[in-house]
Amino acid sequence: MKVPLLDLKLQYQQLKGEIEPAMLAFCAEQMCILGPHVEAFEAALAEKCGAKHCCGVSSGSDALLLSLMAEGIGTGDEVITSPYTFFATGGAIHRVGAKPVFVDIEPKSFTIDTAKIEEKITPRTKAIMPVHLYGQTAEMGTIMQLAKKHNLTVIEDAAQAILSQWQGKCAGAIGDYGCTSFFPSKNLGCFGDGGAVLTQDDAKAAMVHRMRNHGMEPKYYHSVVGGNFRIDALQALVLNIKLKYLDQWTQKRQANAAMYDKLFEGVAGVVTPSVAPWCTRHVRNQYIIRILGGKRQKVWDALKAAEVGCDVYYPVPLHLQECFNFLGYKQGDFPESERAAAETLAIPIYPDLTQQQIEYVASVVIGAL
Ligand SMILES: *Cc1c(COP(=O)(O)O)cnc(C)c1O
Repeated sequence: MKVPLLDLKLQYQQLKGEIEPAMLAFCAEQMCILGPHVEAFEAALAEKCGAKHCCGVSSGSDALLLSLMAEGIGTGDEVITSPYTFFATGGAIHRVGAKPVFVDIEPKSFTIDTAKIEEKITPRTKAIMPVHLYGQTAEMGTIMQLAKKHNLTVIEDAAQAILSQWQGKCAGAIGDYGCTSFFPSKNLGCFGDGGAVLTQDDAKAAMVHRMRNHGMEPKYYHSVVGGNFRIDALQALVLNIKLKYLDQWTQKRQANAAMYDKLFEGVAGVVTPSVAPWCTRHVRNQYIIRILGGKRQKVWDALKAAEVGCDVYYPVPLHLQECFNFLGYKQGDFPESERAAAETLAIPIYPDLTQQQIEYVASVVIGAL
C-alpha cells in the first residue's frame, strides 16, 4: 500500500469546485498585489486566532524576519530560541544581525525548556523566540513571565501550530508577535509560499504593515527601511477558502494521532508524541515517534521498502549547523536536542489518511523493531 508522507491532491479534489472558479475570476480581475483578498484573509485569520491584527506576508521565514525588524532588533542583540527547529528560526535572528542564543528542549514536548531560559538572559537579550513545534505550543507561562520581568519581546514561531492553544489562547496570539507559515506542508497551506504576523498591539501592527511594503507610507515616502514581504493576493484567495475547513482538518489530524497512539500502545521501542500539560489544543502538524535502541534507520528502511513516506525533522540541530560554527557551540551542548535529532521519525498524519493506511503504517513500524 502506498502511503505518502503528505498528499495534497486529495484535499484539492475536495476544494476544486470552490477554488477553480475563484481563480478564474481572479485572472479576469488582475488585482494581483494586496487588495481585497488579502484584507479579507487577514481579518478572517485574526478572528480565528483571537488576535487583534494580522498581516499577511511572503512566508513564515519572512514573518519571523519582519517581526525582528519591526522591533528594531539587530547588531549586538541576542535572541533566545530552541536549536531543535526548522532553520528559519535561527536564520531570521542571524539575518537581522543579532545572535541566536540556544536553550535546549524539554524532551517530552520537543519545545524549549523554560527552566533553562533565565540563566541565558544577559543585558543584550532583546527577545525570546519560542517554537511551537509539531503542533503544540511551548510552555508560554514561564516565557511571558520572564519577558515581563526582563523587559523582553516575545516572538512566537507558530509556523507548525496554527490554532493550537496554550491555556485556551491560540498560538501566535500570546506573545508580542506571532509568526505563522502557509507552506504547503503546514496545517493551513497555500499554493506556494505565504505567512502571517499576528499581534495584539496597534503600533506593532502598523509597523509590520508598513515594513511589509518597504516601509512605504504614503506612497514613495519611506520613514523606515522594510522590504517586499507581501503575501500574494492569489495565495490569500486560496487561504480564504481553505481557512473554512481548517477546524475539520485539525480534528481529522487529532483523530489520526489518536489511532496511532492506540496502535503503538505498549509497543517497546516506540515512544509516541505526548500532549504537554500546558497545551490545551495540539493540532498535530507532525506525528513524531521516537525509535529507541538505535533502530531508526532500520524502521526508515522498512517504511521506504513498504512505500510509506517518512522523514526526519530535523537531523541536525541548529547549534551544530556549519553556518553557525562561529557561535562556538559543540556536540553535547544540548543533549536533548541532539537525542531528538537522532531518535525521531515523522510518519504520515495528514487529514485524508484512511484508517487502513494508518494501520498499515503502524504495522510496518512495529514489524521493523
Ligand atoms: C515552516 C517553518 C518555518 C518557515 O516557514 P516558511 O513559510 O517555509 O518560510 C519557520 N519555522 C518553523 C518551525 C517552520 O516549521
